Amino acid sequence: MIKENLEKIRTVIPQGVTLVAVSKTKPISDVQEAYDAGQRIFGENHALEMRDKHEALPKDIQWHFIGHLQTNKIKYIIPFVTLIHSIDTANLLEAVNKEAKKHDRVVDCLLQFHIAQEETKFGLDMEEARQLLDSEAFKQMQNIRICGVMGMATFTDDEDEIRKEFKHLKSIFDTLKQEYFSGQSQFKEVSMGMSDDYPIAIEEGATLIRVGSKIFGPRNYN
Ligand SMILES: *Cc1c(COP(=O)(O)O)cnc(C)c1O
Repeated sequence: MIKENLEKIRTVIPQGVTLVAVSKTKPISDVQEAYDAGQRIFGENHALEMRDKHEALPKDIQWHFIGHLQTNKIKYIIPFVTLIHSIDTANLLEAVNKEAKKHDRVVDCLLQFHIAQEETKFGLDMEEARQLLDSEAFKQMQNIRICGVMGMATFTDDEDEIRKEFKHLKSIFDTLKQEYFSGQSQFKEVSMGMSDDYPIAIEEGATLIRVGSKIFGPRNYN
């Protein structure tokens, strides 16, 4: 099933959009099955789970961290993580930079923005992002690289609302590109869209989509 699901999604993804297969809570055997079907980019939202999967699975997998990252867990993922989607405070970015320096790495990161109506979703607003990007501390950070933005839409059936939120994230990306990252080719990613809304996200300019249950089936959190 995993293979068929992947193939179905791949046929509708245009060039320039990259699929992150979100394997959180799923067993190693499921990740291996997706790997055997050609998938190389996986997303996880718990640091220790991601570390354990990284240790058990082929080393050409690119691991993307997509969940809320606690500073005391950064150390578990910095040696190997490919992209952190979920930088939601200046403190977190600073802590990632510090840990990356210990490993002599430059770690790619996205700034997560709060675009949904729900209070519970993490993320920066534009003012916080400007403060971060204007800060002297940010200018000193040599071991992180900001590659774009990430956001999660409201959990709703209202497609117009979802589309509006994705448009908002894309406009944040465009503004930051112009004001802070013009001419910097690494700043190119808009991470948005999940199993139920990735087609809308693609229409609105996503470059990374994060799809879990449409590949691996529903999650069981018990
Ligand atoms: C779980 C998760 C996804 C994938 O969700 P699905 O609805 O299963 O596709 C995408 N992004 C983030 C940040 C997640 O936590």
